[in-house]
Amino acid sequence: MDYKASEHIQDLQYFGEFGGVNPSISDSSTYTFLSAKTMFDTFEGNTEGCYLYSRHSSPSNLYLGEAMAELEGTESANVYASGMGAISAVVLQLCNACDHIVCSRTIYGGTYAFMKNFLKKFNIAVSFVDITDLEKVEESITPKTRMIYCEAVSNPLLEVADLPSLSQLARTKEIPLVVDNTFSPLSISAAKLGADIVVHSLTKFINGSSDCVAGAVCASKEFCLSLKDVNDGSGMLLGSTLDSLRAASILKNMRTLHIRIKQHSKNAQYLAELFEKDGLKVVYPGLESHPHHNTMKAQMNPEYGYGGLLTLDVGSLEQANALMELMQKEKLGYLAVSLGFYKTLFSAPGTSTSSEIPLEEQESLGLSEGLIRFSIGLDNDIHKTYLAMKSCIKQLGVLNGDAVLV
Ligand SMILES: *Cc1c(COP(=O)(O)O)cnc(C)c1O
Repeated sequence: MDYKASEHIQDLQYFGEFGGVNPSISDSSTYTFLSAKTMFDTFEGNTEGCYLYSRHSSPSNLYLGEAMAELEGTESANVYASGMGAISAVVLQLCNACDHIVCSRTIYGGTYAFMKNFLKKFNIAVSFVDITDLEKVEESITPKTRMIYCEAVSNPLLEVADLPSLSQLARTKEIPLVVDNTFSPLSISAAKLGADIVVHSLTKFINGSSDCVAGAVCASKEFCLSLKDVNDGSGMLLGSTLDSLRAASILKNMRTLHIRIKQHSKNAQYLAELFEKDGLKVVYPGLESHPHHNTMKAQMNPEYGYGGLLTLDVGSLEQANALMELMQKEKLGYLAVSLGFYKTLFSAPGTSTSSEIPLEEQESLGLSEGLIRFSIGLDNDIHKTYLAMKSCIKQLGVLNGDAVLV
């Protein structure tokens, strides 16, 4: 892949009303019309370029939406008040009661809970499958299946989906492939690889400053408009609209996304390689030992690297908790959920972001209790970070299989 998303994003230009280099923020919920006829046409969706009410659309949200469409190379994109707001809108738009979804079994805990528990209200059945097993995916598709859903790089196990093959399968079955690309913006251009709909939690890398939650849906113009339809659009009617002030601040942060992603990836790759040499149980898609390293290599935009997430299995929850507390004390990062911040964030997914997944299922997925998920920060001197992390690990005497750190 070689999709130049960041160049496309940087080529977008909007000026403020006084020629400002940033667009003016639309600080209004409602918009005036000179003629009643234009208001009616706008309501009916026949007039482009007019704004009616900010739950439907607002200039600030459209600017961010256009940047998101350039990020994924889709015709259009809508932004939402959270990643879950975007995901739930897509699922409820595509499915009717009693339909069926084929979903990867390793996904974000909130998405898992939504699919597994919430959709029961509508008798929507979900088959959770190993998304890297294409035969299993195909076998699970029924005449009622309305989508294949997966994460490009999964949370928290960092499995990599083979998007071109999944897309081919979805096309044969005439169902859309919906991909959550939150873990790998810029590194993976999911839509260019065949995803029909790409969802993002902007809360993470794209905004990158851990100061708000937001989400996006990148797709065809037709699908994005359907979500906004005043009569039956899930985005419009469930109302998870992003505030204009936030849309404006996220757009400004997005302009440095390419620099940040390269640094997150460079730092994570550096730590992963050294941890592996030290005999630690590290999982990172940029390591040749990662089971899907070649899948990722074949579909990524190489200049952005393998992303900022890595996991370390330190054997037990007690060890994981003790290590995280010590690393936080040593100012190596924060014991916090979420990702994409300038500081390293770490948490034990089994008891936090994936706690919605029952324990037996966590075990069958390989999500062990001693697993720590790291979102590696933008540290300027990553070797110094490595030495400090290693010293924490040594202090605790974390044992790993037969390898004891010296
Ligand atoms: C955080 C996250 C979400 C949910 O996004 P919110 O902005 O918290 O609603 C969805 N998918 C993945 C992969 C995430 O990491």
